[in-house]
Amino acid sequence: MIPAETVAQAHAASIVATAYLCGATATTLKRKGNELNGPCPACGGRDRFWLNEAENVFLCRASGEAGDAIVLIRHKHGCSFAEAVEMLTGERPVPAATHAPVSKDEDNKFREWARRDAWDIWQSGRPIDPSRGGHLVVRYQAIRGIAMPNWHIRALREVDNLPYWHKRAGDQHSTIIHRGPAQLAAITGPDGRFTGVHRTWFDLSRPNGKAVIADPDTGEVLDAKKVWGTQRGGKIVLREGELGAGLAIGEGIETVLSWRELRDDRSSTLWCGINLDNISGKATGQIPHPSLTIKDSLGRVRKAKVGSHEPDLTDARCLTLPAGVFNGMTLIGDGDSDRFSTQAAMLRARKRHALTVPDCRIDWADDGVDFNDMLRRLRERRPERAVA
Ligand SMILES: [Zn+2]
Repeated sequence: MIPAETVAQAHAASIVATAYLCGATATTLKRKGNELNGPCPACGGRDRFWLNEAENVFLCRASGEAGDAIVLIRHKHGCSFAEAVEMLTGERPVPAATHAPVSKDEDNKFREWARRDAWDIWQSGRPIDPSRGGHLVVRYQAIRGIAMPNWHIRALREVDNLPYWHKRAGDQHSTIIHRGPAQLAAITGPDGRFTGVHRTWFDLSRPNGKAVIADPDTGEVLDAKKVWGTQRGGKIVLREGELGAGLAIGEGIETVLSWRELRDDRSSTLWCGINLDNISGKATGQIPHPSLTIKDSLGRVRKAKVGSHEPDLTDARCLTLPAGVFNGMTLIGDGDSDRFSTQAAMLRARKRHALTVPDCRIDWADDGVDFNDMLRRLRERRPERAVA
């Protein structure tokens, strides 16, 4: 009979640490916010395995196995409940992870294949310059209250009928669940090489211009923006600024273009950094959130933790800035999501990038809104005034 305390300790074991114990690696598991996704350390595949760090649980779509660290150890080693508990509490050695289900070579092959596929999608788009037939992106940005800039954004294209692939519950492969007009944005790496495509599906009859795409089985509304290929370490170049000017980085395309109009910025290089994690990189530690809580696998409510202000400088899979190119930098801070975690990430980003770019500052949107909200409000109040 195992003491209840020991069982509780095993139940509460970190699911991420357990996945690594089972042979998953930081290269095979890709982080998407609170979730990590990749091949299952027990039964392989490509992206069947999901970890939810906040809820401390895993899901393997192929086997249907799901639950806490004990379930994962049993899925991996086919052992008894008691044996799994003993492995997790250190009373029984964990069998060595005999083989990683996906080798680094295979992983690289998949990445290169995804990059080429993303390139094909990008190539299928047409330029957004209205004189060359572009009109969808201009109309979408207008719905968002953004006047299309007077320079040609080479990193944006548009397409009339882009398929939206989605993996339905229980399916091994993705199927097309939607087709429609979309904006394409080219993601480029530090060397300027194309690494992936960012897509936004439109519905120009809706107030925010974005398509509503729902999972056909669950009805859950899916994200109208998706990336294919690699986004880590990449950016979308919205403007090549003047030589010696500053750099401004924000999370979304609309954010950066809205900021540019509101601040009447005429010279900075403008980058969309795609997501906050990519802009800030990993932290060396975690800090407790003042109000957010999570429930662990035992149903206990605990304070949620977010990445600290200290950048982990060994993280190479985030945005890196060239030294000696920009004379200053603005991090565009949106206030619409959780301010505490956004602020921690922004402070971390500033510390990281201040090592290569001088005069790093954060420009915050007003409380509770983002720069696009601010721009739209300004237009509503003063429709006659052309902004910048
Ligand atoms: Zn599995």
